[in-house]
Amino acid sequence: MTRYTTANTVEEFRQHLADVHARIAAACQRSGRDPATVRLLPVSKTVPEARLRNAHLAGCHTLGENKVQEAHRKWLAMSNLPDLKWAIIGHLQTNKAKLVAEFASEFQALDSLRVAAALDKHLQALGRSLDVLVQVNTSGEASKFGLLPDDVAAFVQQLPAFKSLRVRGLMTLALFSDDAAKVRPCFVRLRELRERLREDAPDGVAMDELSMGMSGDFELAIEQGATSVRVGQAIFGARAVPDSAYWLDAAVR
Ligand SMILES: *Cc1c(COP(=O)(O)O)cnc(C)c1O
Repeated sequence: MTRYTTANTVEEFRQHLADVHARIAAACQRSGRDPATVRLLPVSKTVPEARLRNAHLAGCHTLGENKVQEAHRKWLAMSNLPDLKWAIIGHLQTNKAKLVAEFASEFQALDSLRVAAALDKHLQALGRSLDVLVQVNTSGEASKFGLLPDDVAAFVQQLPAFKSLRVRGLMTLALFSDDAAKVRPCFVRLRELRERLREDAPDGVAMDELSMGMSGDFELAIEQGATSVRVGQAIFGARAVPDSAYWLDAAVR
């Protein structure tokens, strides 16, 4: 596994971002894609505010977090930065939907109608709207969040009822492995699912976005059509906190 070095200063963040953009460009070149069609979402979970301010100065204008309370706390602390947006990329419990409605600009882990309804209710009350992606379990691991691929079409048909949710596409976490032959099929599955869903997506539901790929596998994801890659450690450095604190399933990976 790659060792990810920590970025603290603005200059170090600029360097890490340049390295990641170069890797994105190389993956795009290999697959005949325009790098402008791949968005880099920096994932800042566990990283404290002082370093986030430097990442922001280096050009990170949206930050991805997967714990709502941690994200909300950082948003409050940095609310003096009007051009900094927040993306929630982790599983959400309905009792935290109100917090997300308050400050997030996108939510990438929608996987239940209960959460959709709770978000919509709070967003309507605040006069806000939210970009959402539907999370799909493409690895078949029982411990992963997300809808099973076969359940996504029926789920998506229900979403126009939630007027303040702008459905943009799909998100997935691949199998966590160094073996590309195991990781790639997860990305292929998400892309193929999107192609099928596009054919009869209800009005107002867009199926353009494919959020897939992280520090260890984003090149593979880009080769399979990712429009958004969620990259934490390659920008911020290795995390001291084990991912089990963030992913229930980390223990079985
Ligand atoms: C932490 C996380 C990432 C980024 O993982 P890195 O290994 O830090 O690049 C991407 N997506 C989700 C849902 C995450 O929780």
